[in-house]
Amino acid sequence: MGLPGSESSVASASTAESTSLVGPRLPEWIRVRPPHGADYQSVRDTVARLGLGTVCREARCPNLPECWSAGTATIMLLGTDCTRRCGFCAVTTHWPRGKVDASEPARVAQGIAEWGLRYAVLTQVCRDDLSDGGAAILAETVREIRARSPSTLVELLIGDLAGDESSLATVLDSHPDVLAHNLETVRSLSPSVRDRRAGHDRSLEVLRAARRLGPPTLVTKSSVMLGLGETEEQLTGAFDELRDAGVDLLTLGQYLRPSPDHLPVARYVPPEEFERFVGLATRAGFAGVESGPLVRSSYHAEQLYRAARARSG
Ligand code: SF4
Repeated sequence: MGLPGSESSVASASTAESTSLVGPRLPEWIRVRPPHGADYQSVRDTVARLGLGTVCREARCPNLPECWSAGTATIMLLGTDCTRRCGFCAVTTHWPRGKVDASEPARVAQGIAEWGLRYAVLTQVCRDDLSDGGAAILAETVREIRARSPSTLVELLIGDLAGDESSLATVLDSHPDVLAHNLETVRSLSPSVRDRRAGHDRSLEVLRAARRLGPPTLVTKSSVMLGLGETEEQLTGAFDELRDAGVDLLTLGQYLRPSPDHLPVARYVPPEEFERFVGLATRAGFAGVESGPLVRSSYHAEQLYRAARARSG
């Protein structure tokens, strides 16, 4: 899909919620803090009690300890198995044959209400087995959250919904504050990095259509992983493509290899390059850019959204 995308590369610390990174020794700038505090335990308990899927855990996100310790998690909708198999992603591949859990939207809304989140990030597994790609459940979840937590801002990170505009319209009708879809990588690497059903142009079209079909207040967002072999020229080309599709916010993070079965890391990009890319992306016209080795698409999402809103007046 274009989903948890950069979220889906692995953890490096030996915490209860993460696994060891595969491959050469990690550079010293990739360090994950251990989980701590009552909020971490509370998030963990709520996730277990309500049976919530989180991309933090399923995709073995390296920021799980930090985010859960801060009392927040990124919920994964439509189950925890994806119908696609992207070369970078740790989420399990499975074909659920059209099964959905109708109680999921209410359970998710309850979890978010219990955490008292001001800003909720939801993502989805790709569901090519459903005619609408799961759009109805996504929209229902946003509505349930609005009903229980009216002041909570909602960021929805979606797949490509098989490029179906009516499915996208269903999602947009629920009025998420941010509609995100990840480009994941540069054009030339896309066929070898993403599932064959995903597509670079299709992802750009999803983002363009969201801008066109959504209300003027809708913020759109995308994410690109670095360290897969992209050149700087290809990367700035992706910035331009995303801006041409009207994308407002961008996150850039280091790809980390989940297992020996996943794509190898071509390069660990040093922090100063991530810094430099902020300047390049800002010059390309993004209203907000979050860039760093451990940045994932939902990382510091609220801060990025609010900073971009403040800048745009
Ligand atoms: S395998 Fe599925 S969950 Fe993982 S990035 Fe690809 S589409 Fe998204």
